Amino acid sequence: MSPIQFDQIRLPRELQALREEVREFLRREAPATGLSSRAEYNAEFSRKVGARGWIGMTWPKRYGGGERSFLERYVVTEEFRVGNAPVALHFTADRQSGPILLKYAGEPTKQSILPRITRGECCFCIGMSEPGSGSDLFAAKTKATRAAGGWTINGTKIWTSGAHHANYMIGLFRTSPPAKENRRHGLTQFLVDMSRPGIKVNPIEDMSGGKHFNEVVFEDFFIPDDHVLGDVDMAWKQATSELAYERSGPERFLETIHVLFALTRVLGDKPDLRGAEGLGRLVAQLHTLRRMSVSVNGMLQAGKEPVLEGSIVKDVGTLWEQALPARARELAAFVEGERAEFDAVVRHAATIAPKLTIQGGTTEVLRGIIARGLGLR
Ligand SMILES: Cc1cc2nc3c(=O)[nH]c(=O)nc-3n(C[C@H](O)[C@H](O)[C@H](O)COP(=O)(O)OP(=O)(O)OC[C@H]3O[C@@H](n4cnc5c(N)ncnc54)[C@H](O)[C@@H]3O)c2cc1C
Repeated sequence: MSPIQFDQIRLPRELQALREEVREFLRREAPATGLSSRAEYNAEFSRKVGARGWIGMTWPKRYGGGERSFLERYVVTEEFRVGNAPVALHFTADRQSGPILLKYAGEPTKQSILPRITRGECCFCIGMSEPGSGSDLFAAKTKATRAAGGWTINGTKIWTSGAHHANYMIGLFRTSPPAKENRRHGLTQFLVDMSRPGIKVNPIEDMSGGKHFNEVVFEDFFIPDDHVLGDVDMAWKQATSELAYERSGPERFLETIHVLFALTRVLGDKPDLRGAEGLGRLVAQLHTLRRMSVSVNGMLQAGKEPVLEGSIVKDVGTLWEQALPARARELAAFVEGERAEFDAVVRHAATIAPKLTIQGGTTEVLRGIIARGLGLR
């Protein structure tokens, strides 16, 4: 059997009612948002989303979750992305940090933090990359040293999205040197309370002029023992299933989707042959991508760990959305008429395009993972 397995899974028809519910909510609560409003931290909006039960949808009810399916969550995520809804405050916690806490945090931590996430009141960031280790996470040097009742952290994380808003970080720190037989040994995941002293968040401006990510400096920062997540030195064992969540969602190919909508408007009802062929090709590719992404989410629902398939969705998806602005420009090149809106959307997408194949794992690194999964290296 092939090591790559995309199960034939489709979104059940009955989820259409949920989709309509989300669209109606967005029409009321997040109308006419700007191009980059998805990146906005909007406490009121997140609280309203929480009140609808759309954060932590798949988590157990005893922690404020909804015990709903990954495919239901998929529909909500998809609609929020297409609607450019301002989800930044709760999105990381919902997608990734909450599931880590569910799996590895102690009971008191789960009881105190998870319900706050589901209410849309708690923002998380991810502290993995460092100045000397991005793709090679296991080269991380930021050190956690034993102290009375906990650990002392010294070092620097970088590219930390949203650290300036976050209440907590899930940080990856070095607790022991790498072992000779396993260089990935020696790192531990910690829950970091960003309000404690000894932490400095310095903004980094990106090429679009936004300040979304940061440098985070730890100086004798204390973390209590009960904020260790999972086993000390064994983070390498915990990271893999998390990556399938991080890489396979619809957000991985919908970041520049508004270019496709604007292109459709510019080409109009009767595009010429070139326009029709080009648009048809883009839509067919998007349809295939979506089916692959739905499949991965269905497999997660079935308790599988589709790490390889998730990497493929991220690789193919981000290359597609990155190429979209230039392709749309080509197809619209000979169309006459008013196109100021199209130009603005394409310009914005072209500015954010370079980051798409870097965040969440670079294209080259993903291909290394896929090659290993296929037994080629
Ligand atoms: C918008 C954005 C948001 C981000 N948010 C976060 C965040 O919230 N938290 C966080 O921890 N990090 C975050 N990152 C960091 C991101 O995860 C890293 O930038 C990424 O992992 C690459 O690491 P690097 O920048 O150190 O590049 P490097 O790892 O130095 O890579 C440089 C180049 O070498 C290639 N390369 C590296 N290793 C290999 C290999 N083994 N085989 C083949 N080619 C290789 C890469 O593909 C790349 O082209 C974010 C990045 C971006 C762009």
